[in-house]
Amino acid sequence: MTDADRVVVIGAGIAGASAADHLARETDAEVVVLERAAEPAGETTARSGAFVGFWGHESAATVPLLRYGIRYYGRLLSAAETEPRFVHGGRLRLATTAAGDDAIRTTFESDFNQVIRESTATETATKGAPVQYLSGAALDETLVLPGLATDAVTGALYSPGVGYVDDPAALARAVLERARAAGATVETGTTVTEILTEAGRVTGVRTTDGRRRADAVVAAAGPWNRRLLDTADVTLPVRNTRGPMLVLDTDEHGLPALYHEETGVYTRQNRDGSLFVGHFPGQYENASVLDPDAIGDDVPDARRERSLDAIARFLPGARDATVADEWVGVRTVTPDGDPVIGPTDVDGLSVLAFNANGIQYAPAAGRLVAADVGGFDPGFPTTGVAFGRLR
Ligand SMILES: Cc1cc2nc3c(=O)[nH]c(=O)nc-3n(C[C@H](O)[C@H](O)[C@H](O)COP(=O)(O)OP(=O)(O)OC[C@H]3O[C@@H](n4cnc5c(N)ncnc54)[C@H](O)[C@@H]3O)c2cc1C
Repeated sequence: MTDADRVVVIGAGIAGASAADHLARETDAEVVVLERAAEPAGETTARSGAFVGFWGHESAATVPLLRYGIRYYGRLLSAAETEPRFVHGGRLRLATTAAGDDAIRTTFESDFNQVIRESTATETATKGAPVQYLSGAALDETLVLPGLATDAVTGALYSPGVGYVDDPAALARAVLERARAAGATVETGTTVTEILTEAGRVTGVRTTDGRRRADAVVAAAGPWNRRLLDTADVTLPVRNTRGPMLVLDTDEHGLPALYHEETGVYTRQNRDGSLFVGHFPGQYENASVLDPDAIGDDVPDARRERSLDAIARFLPGARDATVADEWVGVRTVTPDGDPVIGPTDVDGLSVLAFNANGIQYAPAAGRLVAADVGGFDPGFPTTGVAFGRLR
């Protein structure tokens, strides 16, 4: 993609915003973002839990990319006029059964290559940030956790570096503003219907508004990427999972984010007291190909009951709280759990696809695409996230 004159970015979520920002600031290309909705960042990005930080299970391929993202967001969110706020608080992955505790210990020992000794909390500085194993007994003498039923917890992993961006749609809009300030154009209300190619090279896109010529095209259309790339005969081997979110009206104290090992139910305590209750159904083997246009915003009753029953085990006070809002987002998941970022088999056509956590990796994805177009080194290794590894 080196020396592209005109780059079309499809989609104005956090991925498209980051691509536009990096391309506009770091290359000479003319950058045009095409977004089908009337407003940017209203899809997966707006529905996200938006946690960012080292959890402890990052792969060797993604640690340097996450370091880049942490630096990027740290700088972006330091600017006084940016609307979104970063909220620290850490994350507790907690088990409430002996089997769950075993699973947590096994994960910790294999992820960090350390043996947990009986009743000792272990800390490590490898993999980007410290993560601590806490036995159920050690938990309530290590952290103040009002409202959490610590006696029900059999073991936990504490990742103090994890926090969240309180408004991920505003985050993407702030990134798009930077892109615009550096010369990028953002056109909303324009749907790309086909990626156009000739002799194995991208030539542009067809839109509801006519044809657009391009030297390079970046597919940043979230869960719509797969369908879009099909039009250029590129198979993106990703699947999807539903991301249901309930917003509970609670008056709990500030707690770290909680992830329940046995059920995949997780929470995010917001500054206004409300509690997000999400569900993570697992990775690629638990995923399927979904049509994102066919997923409504109502959390199915059975899912709602299961999520509320799960939090009753460790946050009893929240069980009967009113559900003030709800939605369902569509995650993309990849076969090996790492993102797919960069050039495809069609010359000039790149893709930005994540394994669930695109807020974390969008800055590095944007940097990688800009480095490819501009012909410079992104500053971190990229083979572990390359499209070609999945061919
Ligand atoms: C419930 C939930 C919780 C999550 N929690 C986290 C988390 O804690 N941390 C984290 O890092 N990530 C999290 N994620 C994942 C993260 O939100 C996504 O990886 C990220 O938002 C993807 O951004 P995107 O820009 O690729 O996609 P999107 O935000 O979906 O943006 C794609 C854009 O492309 C547009 N588009 C689609 N088709 C076309 C077309 N044909 N023409 C033009 N425009 C088009 C769409 O309208 C949309 O605006 C979560 C996701 C969900 C659903």
